[in-house]
Amino acid sequence: MSRPILVINCGSSSIKFALVPEHVAAHQVRRSGLAENLGTPEALLNITTEDGKKTSVAIPHADHQAALTEILKRLGDELPIAIGHRVVHGGEKFTHAVQIDESVLKVIRETTPLAPLHNPANLQGIDATLKLFADLPQVAVFDTAFHQTMPPQAFRYALPEDLYSKHHIRRYGFHGTSHAYVTQHTDQLVGGDNNGWISAHLGNGCSTCAVWQGKSMDTSMGLTPLEGLVMGTRSGNVDPSLHIHLTRTLGWSLEEIDQILNKKSGLLGLSGLSNDMRTLTEAAADGHRGAELAIDVFCYRLAQSLAAMSCALPVFTGIIFTGGIGENAAVIRAKTLALLPHFGLYLDADKNQKMIRGAEGRIDQGANDTELGINAYLGRQIWVIPTDEEGQIARETRSVLGL
Ligand code: ADP
Repeated sequence: MSRPILVINCGSSSIKFALVPEHVAAHQVRRSGLAENLGTPEALLNITTEDGKKTSVAIPHADHQAALTEILKRLGDELPIAIGHRVVHGGEKFTHAVQIDESVLKVIRETTPLAPLHNPANLQGIDATLKLFADLPQVAVFDTAFHQTMPPQAFRYALPEDLYSKHHIRRYGFHGTSHAYVTQHTDQLVGGDNNGWISAHLGNGCSTCAVWQGKSMDTSMGLTPLEGLVMGTRSGNVDPSLHIHLTRTLGWSLEEIDQILNKKSGLLGLSGLSNDMRTLTEAAADGHRGAELAIDVFCYRLAQSLAAMSCALPVFTGIIFTGGIGENAAVIRAKTLALLPHFGLYLDADKNQKMIRGAEGRIDQGANDTELGINAYLGRQIWVIPTDEEGQIARETRSVLGL
């Protein structure tokens, strides 16, 4: 068995890492951790080992390189064979994961205007690991790459041609690693090579994706991750004239509006209470009106997006729920699917309630239909599949390097 892959996800002040062995079940505990508050006196490294033991080490003022040095000391006996980096934006150049070299770094740098917060942080992490692990091959796995199979009718905005051809304004989509993993995994569970899925990744960020024969055909996020669904603190779709309206009527700057749409809207803005769906489902059960409204809008907009995604699929086999909300919030799944009965989506209420906390399986009524037999069931399949972005990054890293 070959040595593990070290998966790294660098933010501007944080580093997430996981050591992923070659053969490991999606949710077996891995050696993993999070270095946070980097560059501040409160910098902290939290580590979980394979036996589930958690430790925290203060690493005051550590930058990315210092934090990675601390992580390296705590990787255990089995050192990695290669490193896989999550990189948010690959623009149109990267349709797959690639081994990192000078030319790849140059393109990631050139793509920075499309992801001004994320790509520089990802580059910082790559830079530090190239110094620390100079003898290990490193691979970039892009959030956008999976969606490069979208046809122009899905990825083009109805804007003047120049904005696309000269300025790269188009829909890119994100969460590609998660949508790729859950749809590939469900294909394996179901069998056949002509399945059409709509996956709904519902975490702090949320997106839907139509996948046919393993290829992304459309997705709800666009040029940036702000487009599409209602999210924890992001508004999702608003009228494109909102910026100009708020500037004209309230005198707000573009930066202020950007902050509001990204950090103060979504579930948080609607509820006035929290961006956390767990808090909101509990508050709604106690009659909190803001929480009820936030959940109603979230589910309605999600149902609309699922219906819209079906247009991209020649074959519509079923829906897959994933991400913290998709994997755990049975009430949100039920409320959303209740808006789509004309799509042949018949939820099994009992199975839905039980499919939480890492459980994986089918939750439609056909999954129970022993009398008619599964082939006589006319409804579509509904699945809950816990996502595994780290596992997917490790797999793609091995595949690029032929390991
Ligand atoms: P991220 O996008 O940061 O990876 P996650 O995929 O972990 O986030 O999803 C976080 C979201 O999942 C939060 O809104 C959280 O409240 C929600 N969530 C987790 N568990 C539950 C639950 N049992 N019920 C409802 N929502 C849940």
